[in-house]
Amino acid sequence: MPIASAKQMLQKATDGAYAVGAFNVTSFVQMLAVAEAADQARAPVIIQTSVTPAKFYGPEVIAAACRSLAERVTVPVCLHLDHCTDLDFCKRCADAGYTNIMIDGSGFEFDENVRVTREIVEYCHSRGDISVEGELGTVTGVEDEIVVSEDSSALCPVDKAVEFVERTGVDLFAPAIGTAHGVYATPTPNIDYDRLGLIVELVHGMEQKTPVVIHGGTGLGNEVVRRLIELGGAKFNVSTDLKHLLLDTTAQYLEANRTEYNPGKLDKAVKNAHLERVTDWMELLGSAGKA
Ligand SMILES: [Zn+2]
Repeated sequence: MPIASAKQMLQKATDGAYAVGAFNVTSFVQMLAVAEAADQARAPVIIQTSVTPAKFYGPEVIAAACRSLAERVTVPVCLHLDHCTDLDFCKRCADAGYTNIMIDGSGFEFDENVRVTREIVEYCHSRGDISVEGELGTVTGVEDEIVVSEDSSALCPVDKAVEFVERTGVDLFAPAIGTAHGVYATPTPNIDYDRLGLIVELVHGMEQKTPVVIHGGTGLGNEVVRRLIELGGAKFNVSTDLKHLLLDTTAQYLEANRTEYNPGKLDKAVKNAHLERVTDWMELLGSAGKA
């Protein structure tokens, strides 16, 4: 299928009470595995990259590869730029063929966050079907080059959510609700479910229902994940889990086959591990069978 924007995909997920997995990849093997897992599971999927891999390969190269993969499978695939604070780079990725851009203005004061987010929304919407995700409040932990300590974190203010969505025109809304990037110190992190419920009610009650994004998916118990989706999470970000899987699978393979010198076999081992893990996620999120 032609590469798709996330907006429609996530409005469908919102109405169907399931979440679409948004998987961060840093290599082409991972990208291939995510697309194939989605195809096999009949699941819509979002492939996303942080800024660092986007700069490493070049957004044009990533977009070309992802577009080609999307056309090879028969489920909707979207290419998303995760947590970008650089307006020029957001625009470059949109021009290169990313179908979804996250402008992360959450480090700014409210009005400045609105201003930068609005600028990217206007840019992306003027260039076609490119959707934009904005964040209000800050998700703690480390994502790519952005470090947010737990002290400086601020959860999304409920009374500002609708104003933010209205003034920015974002297609997808990421409120900080206590989930974190990286590895949780506890399997039951302090998530503000009530806040999420209130925010979802408000942004779904707007003229156009705005899908809600959950960051920091790695390491949450299955019950926590289901509850976040029940409350309205429609895009579910999974990053750290695949980073660990990539490196752990590689280390284990090399340890067992140190004298083999066959990179193709290593790629296959990494791909198979990802096929399995991503499929598990799609089943948990409820997106399997929805394409
Ligand atoms: Zn995030």
